[in-house]
Amino acid sequence: MENRTLPILYIVIPCYNEQEVLPITAPQFLKKITDLAAAGKISPDSRVLFVNDGSKDRTWQIICDLADADPHYAGISQSRNRGHQNAVLAGLMEAKDRCDITISIDCDGQDDINAMDGMVDAYRDGCDVVYGVRSKRETDTFFKRFTAESFYKLLNAMGAEVVFNHADYRLMSARVLRQFARFKEVNLFLRGMVPLVGFKSTCVTYERHERIAGESHYPLSKMLSLAFDGITSLSIKPIRFITGFGVVVAFISFLGVLWAVIEAFLGMTISGWASTTSIICFVSGVQLICLGIIGEYIGKIYMETKHRPRYIISETTPNFPCSEEEDA
Ligand code: UDP
Ligand code: MG
Repeated sequence: MENRTLPILYIVIPCYNEQEVLPITAPQFLKKITDLAAAGKISPDSRVLFVNDGSKDRTWQIICDLADADPHYAGISQSRNRGHQNAVLAGLMEAKDRCDITISIDCDGQDDINAMDGMVDAYRDGCDVVYGVRSKRETDTFFKRFTAESFYKLLNAMGAEVVFNHADYRLMSARVLRQFARFKEVNLFLRGMVPLVGFKSTCVTYERHERIAGESHYPLSKMLSLAFDGITSLSIKPIRFITGFGVVVAFISFLGVLWAVIEAFLGMTISGWASTTSIICFVSGVQLICLGIIGEYIGKIYMETKHRPRYIISETTPNFPCSEEEDA
């Protein structure tokens, strides 16, 4: 079924409040498809698929106008804002049965679209997943660079296997997506989940630019929550740390008790209200942290057991009909 010599490519682009940047980048994506098709690398039936993530501005209107003007543009709209990861998933799942390959990319022009040539070449050479990896982060502020790089290091240290400096700019083949669709979890961390699917993969490096217009939707708080989600969705290492930490604390306390007993025998004890209190405080603090982390995992189990749909599409452009009972 898959056509490696002339594959149909769908570029999947999540958009949330992007009215400033969309009119600039949309023609660039279209041009990329036209150029790749002209070079005989992809089928002319390829599409630019926008996923409107419940934008509050004119984003959806712009997408509809684009689709009216050129049939290579298509769009789906989520029923409300569900976040970047869900938006990408919605696009990938709706695209998977209509194309041979997808490339997911942000719509703000930060990721170099010329890296798509290398991605398509790698697919034609037999790779099923091609990760876009940032070569340098010079355009990012020091703070963004530092926090982002710490993010990858923390994730890997905690056992979530992610490709260093790869965000969600990647090529995935339809057969990878069909397997990926069987991962039913609702706590999404795509860049950590894709390596779990397997298949032959490679990396293509590119330079990341500054946002063309509009503002980042990923402030530090959202980055932290993404890192936390990544770790707790993919690994149970933090729970093991708790156990290890508990053992260490217990051992130190045991030494403390020995010391206290010896002191008592030597008759050097003073009724130590302060030390008792601080020990109680310390231990209860540790317990609260541990309970919090365990609670985080229980929360995840709770959300997973609900089997809520991971995305809901309310509207589509006329050239991209979606079935009502989506199988997300
Ligand atoms: N985005 C989305 N839903 C959201 C937040 C962001 O679909 O709730 C999209 C956004 O339109 C953009 C991409 O996700 O195409 C990445 O967001 P952004 O550029 O703000 O993040 P940054 O590049 O600063 O990490
Ligand atoms: Mg961005």
